[in-house]
Parts: sequence; structure tokens; C-alpha cells
Amino acid sequence: MDKLAVFGGEPVRKAPIYYGRQCIEQDDIDAVAETLRGDLITCGPRVETLEKKLCEVTGAKYAVVVANGTAALHLAALAAGFKEGDEVIVSSITFAASANCVLYCGARPVFADINPDTYNIDPADVEKKITPRTRGIVAVDFTGQSVEHDALRRICREHNLILIEDAAHAIGTRYNGKPIGSIADMTCFSFHPVKTVTGGEGGAVTTDDYSLYRKLMRLRTHGITRNQDEMVHPTDAMWYNEQVELGFNYRMTDFQAALLLSQLGKLPRFSARRKEIMKIYDRVFSEMPEIIVQKEIPESDTTRHLYVIRLNPERLTCTRRQFFDALYAENVCPQVHYLPVYLHSYYEKLGYEKGLCPNAEEYYEWSMSIPFYYSMTDDEVEDTIRAVKKVTEYYRK
Ligand SMILES: *Cc1c(COP(=O)(O)O)cnc(C)c1O
Repeated sequence: MDKLAVFGGEPVRKAPIYYGRQCIEQDDIDAVAETLRGDLITCGPRVETLEKKLCEVTGAKYAVVVANGTAALHLAALAAGFKEGDEVIVSSITFAASANCVLYCGARPVFADINPDTYNIDPADVEKKITPRTRGIVAVDFTGQSVEHDALRRICREHNLILIEDAAHAIGTRYNGKPIGSIADMTCFSFHPVKTVTGGEGGAVTTDDYSLYRKLMRLRTHGITRNQDEMVHPTDAMWYNEQVELGFNYRMTDFQAALLLSQLGKLPRFSARRKEIMKIYDRVFSEMPEIIVQKEIPESDTTRHLYVIRLNPERLTCTRRQFFDALYAENVCPQVHYLPVYLHSYYEKLGYEKGLCPNAEEYYEWSMSIPFYYSMTDDEVEDTIRAVKKVTEYYRK
């Protein structure tokens, strides 16, 4: 039977909903407008206030706010000292930026497989992929769930590796009670509109290490410093600043910082609602043998960014593509996170091949993220569940 004859004829929803969406309220808009009326719209006071706020939220000593999450990863990889000839172990199920930052530095990403139940980087596979050239790990808190920090810390200590945590999904998550942002050597955040809090665009790196902090600050503005102790030709002349290395313009504007400050104030509320929706989904889907629910490690108190359902091919007659298209026709629009990074054609051209991370490839074959965001109404949550059930019932084996 033509699937469109079955799905979308009388869709569960009239208007489509998508896998993620920002929540901008009047006070967010007011905060931006007020900043735009002020004297400084970039490099002003709000960027510093935001950095202090991020330290409060994450428990880190230092925060460096940047233009976006990719810039945060780039600077972290440079500050870590990754360079040509180095290998850096990266999660295979993630957004390409987690691995691209290694390439930016001339180093080679080595992909580690995921744990088939949590979908996070598998510490045992990380250990297998360590060579004498390995310098660090980029570990991703996929969907917001914390990576296995105890295991990764032990590996990093034993092999003298630096841990960069890509926490683009994970602001508000805690590991054994400690907020994400205060655990890894450097933690990178993204404030893109689909993430839990947004600045339109935006990113940050947090660290407890003062010398990494100073390096990140320099690299954010062209490699230029005003600190005499970093200069080759120190002087206290007021106009003088010195470029001491090659950096970038990765600054964030003050109006983005104002939006983020306003949004971070709402993180407890955003987080609570996300946890509430996650509980509802978990309860419903864990009772459906056709659907596999992401497992959580007990150490992670997760503020979820994404909600992934994984199809059980033993219980369904359809492909992931058919299930995805059927949900779409019902106006409950999913997305797939992610193609294993090394299967992007650019990475294939670099010599990476299918078969590298079997768990990641199997995960990719059957998974999709369903609508999940703070401002979802109870009705929208219900509709999403109804659509998943409708499609499941049709394709049930
Ligand atoms: C969003 C995201 C990034 C990149 O962040 P941008 O702010 O879009 O540059 C990096 N890694 C992961 C896992 C992400 O989800």
C-alpha cells in the first residue's frame, strides 16, 4: 500500500512540529533591546557578566565566551596544542564540528565507537585506539547525557591525554552531582537556537586551568594581548597591545550575551520541563517493544537536548526511512542525529571507511530524534506519542 494513503491523509497534527525549537520570551527581547540602545554593542560589559554567570552555572573557574560552539571547539583544540602528526580520539556519533576542530589544527581524528545502549563514546574502545601519537580525546555528551567521566579520566591520566568535552548538548547536566563544565580539562558549549539556551549563535569554553584560559582569551581576539607578562616587548603605554600568536576574531556581541544571560536565568525552568517530557516519553516508549529507549548511566543527572528513539528491526517491518517519512507525513517531524562523522564524503576522501565503528553504524541505521523542546505543550507531547504509536501499529511485525 502507498504509505501516503495511510499517513498524512488525516495527520495527527495540522501544523508541523520539529525536533527542536528555541524559547524566546518578552524579557529576553527586552534584554537585547536595552543592550542595543547602550554604548557598547560588542566587547562590552555583558560578555564579562556572561562569563561570570557561566562559571556560576558550571562551577568552572574560567569561562571564555565565543561566537559559536564550533569556534569554542577550535580554540580548545588549539589551546590543547593539537598539531600535525597528533591523533585525537573523537566520538563517532556527533555533529561534524567535534571532529573538524581536530582537522583545523592539522591533527588526525581517530573515531571511537559508541556504547550501544547509551550512544556515548565507549571508554573501552577509546583505550583500544590509543597509539604513541594520541594526544587527547574529544568526548561528546550526546543528547545531553554525561560521558563516563571516571573511566575517561583514568585513561587520560594513564596516557597523559587532554580531555575536551563537547557539551553542546549538555548545559545543565550533572555527573555525580558536579555540573558539566567543571570536570574535563576544557568543556565547550554551543548556544545555537536548537540547544537548551540560545544567543542566536554563541559558544563558550570553560576550564579550571589558568594558562589554558589565558591562551583561549588571546586566541579569541587575533592572538593579541594587553597583558605585559605575555608580551615580547612589554610596556605600560596605554595604547599598546601586541599580537604574540596567530588568533581569530571569535568574539560574541553584547546583545547576544544579553540574550544568553537572560536565557541562563531560565535554565532551571527549561531543565525541569525537559526532564518532565523525557520521563513521559521514557514511560510510554519503554513499554513498546518496537522502540528502544536510550539508556542513562546512573551518574548522569541529564538535562536532555534531544530525544532519540531507536527502532527495533525485529519487531517492525519498515525501514528507518519509511518510519521517518510516515512521522513527517503526520506533521510530527523528526531528524536524524547523526550520520557517523567518518561517513561524510569529506571524511571518506580522507581515507576513513565504513566498518570503523560497528555500533555507531548500527545505531545510525535505526534512530531518529522526535520533537523535544522546552516550550512543547502537553498536547504536542501527546500528539508526538500518538504519531509514533500510529506508525508503529501500522508497521508492527
Ligand atoms: C551544535 C553542536 C556543535 C556546534 O555548535 P555551533 O554553535 O553550531 O557551532 C558542536 N558539537 C555538537 C555536538 C553540536 O550539537
